[in-house]
Amino acid sequence: MRKIEHLGIAVKDLTASNELFSKLLNVLPYKTESVESEGVNTSFFQVGETKIELLEASNADSAIAKFIEKRGEGIHHIAFDVADIHAEVARLKAEGFTVLNETPKPGADNKLVVFLHPKSTNGVLIELCQEK
Ligand code: ZN
Repeated sequence: MRKIEHLGIAVKDLTASNELFSKLLNVLPYKTESVESEGVNTSFFQVGETKIELLEASNADSAIAKFIEKRGEGIHHIAFDVADIHAEVARLKAEGFTVLNETPKPGADNKLVVFLHPKSTNGVLIELCQEK
């Protein structure tokens, strides 16, 4: 793993949170994007070499809706940049981690992504991402 690519933060209202984080970070989001397959609307802020991803549920069945219902708004996942996502998945499986999707899927911000189950990572959802 090369660096923390971004932190994902679950929010209830993306418009309001975009304003809040624009003030906080003193920069506007460089991108907003809906990922239909994940049921999320996202926005991205560049902060030095890393990013903040805000995630809002786009439907009631979305994992983000469930997360907020259970735990409230807050940090949802940590995403690590990897050079070879297939090799990392194989390595982490061999180490005993629970991989949620073994086949990388298209994520936001032009990435291929794989998630690790938080039960195998001390309660933190981990995303691996590789630039497409
Ligand atoms: Zn993410």
